Amino acid sequence: MRRQRSAKIVATIGPASNTADKIEALFNAGVDLFRLNFSHGTQQDHQVVCDIIRELEKRSGRPIGVMADMQGPKLRVGTFADKKVKLVAGKKFRLDLDKTPGTVNRAPLPHPEIFAAISPGTELLLDDGNIRLVVKSCGKDFAETEIATGGDLSDRKGVNVPNALLPVSPLTPKDRSDLAFALDMGVDWIALSFVQRPEDVAEARKLIAGRASIMVKLEKPAAIERLKEIVDLSEAVMVARGDLGVEMPPEDVPSIQREIIHVSRMAGKPVVVATQMLESMVRNPVPTRAEASDVATAVYEGADAVMLSAETAAGSYPVEAVTMMDRIIRRVQADPIYFPGLHTAARVEADNSPSDAISAAASQVAHSIGAAAIVSYTTSGATALRMARERPDVPILALTSNLRTARRLAVAWGLHCIHTHDVRNFNEMVQHATRAARSNGFAEKSQRVVITAGVPFGTPGATNILRVAWVES
Ligand code: PGA
Ligand code: MN
Repeated sequence: MRRQRSAKIVATIGPASNTADKIEALFNAGVDLFRLNFSHGTQQDHQVVCDIIRELEKRSGRPIGVMADMQGPKLRVGTFADKKVKLVAGKKFRLDLDKTPGTVNRAPLPHPEIFAAISPGTELLLDDGNIRLVVKSCGKDFAETEIATGGDLSDRKGVNVPNALLPVSPLTPKDRSDLAFALDMGVDWIALSFVQRPEDVAEARKLIAGRASIMVKLEKPAAIERLKEIVDLSEAVMVARGDLGVEMPPEDVPSIQREIIHVSRMAGKPVVVATQMLESMVRNPVPTRAEASDVATAVYEGADAVMLSAETAAGSYPVEAVTMMDRIIRRVQADPIYFPGLHTAARVEADNSPSDAISAAASQVAHSIGAAAIVSYTTSGATALRMARERPDVPILALTSNLRTARRLAVAWGLHCIHTHDVRNFNEMVQHATRAARSNGFAEKSQRVVITAGVPFGTPGATNILRVAWVES
């Protein structure tokens, strides 16, 4: 089975989609990478889903990516005596470490790190930014605030502190337990929430120790300030617009999205645009025009993948949402301005490695001779990602003997990954590549393919061959 598009689809699994039948239907509709959201459900729930996906992978013969998304240091208020209070603009409201259930005058906020990081004038956003408090005075265990925007506040609603660098690790004790569990389960990607600084990525990397790749979620203003450094330390990037849109003014989010995509593309790191893409499809079988346009914009901007959250996890139309995304991406790709636009938006220069130069040349050659496909042999996945970074206007087959590489690359733009055996010599390399292109529906007899590989065969980082070959019978 081959997909008819270059940009990929990530879908979150949840109560609306966590059965074998639904997961298979989502995969058939176009999902390339499944996201397990550890903010919800038990470890056991995620294990069941992961087993279903691996079983489906076996049956389908197609590598499928699995991502475990860590909840991260999500901050929340405590509880209220009556479950809910009405906060009125202009009134005072106190937050403190006292666990006594809250009232209309005060609430518990069980996070000493917040009190350590704020000062008079700091804004606190509650319940996804619906309620806004301004700190008037504070100490190590309390803050007196004034209500700038009021509203109903209920038990355990989220708290965002946009303009403070919080002295918190990106991995809470719950995350550390979830992380160990997810790594044992063998997930391909770990997504890190609320990363604030490059050191956060380094800290997670030590714990992960090469057992999965890191996708950093950009949802804090502090992280945007050090974007390039953070991208360089990660294997992939998510534009996490849900929390980003709370921490930043909504009008800033589109420009930041563009910038993150640009920086990630220049670095050759897969970038995923996430949250509210087809939000109204949680309830309706068709999206709004604005949502269709949002997905299309991310694709035109060169994103590797677009993501569905509540649409597939908790919505009434999970399969329809994936089908719709697939249709939008294919339509954008059919637009004659799509590829030229990608190439002018980010003119990527090859660096001085042979592998990079060969990837750039392969893309050129494939375009010039009208090749049916590019076939890249890759071991670690690095060469395939460099190939994808060129955004060639022909499909790329990534051939690898490493199943974990094939799964991981499922999120990357343009790569159709095939798990295969190592080749031993030049003839075998050519034969194997042309046959793979033909049998997977990428090339027909007497079309040409452009092959990249490295000798000695199977050595990571050794790409040094570019070969044009005819597809024989
Ligand atoms: P979340 O992350 O769904 O885990 O909050 C995505 C986002 O914030 O956009
Ligand atoms: Mn988030």
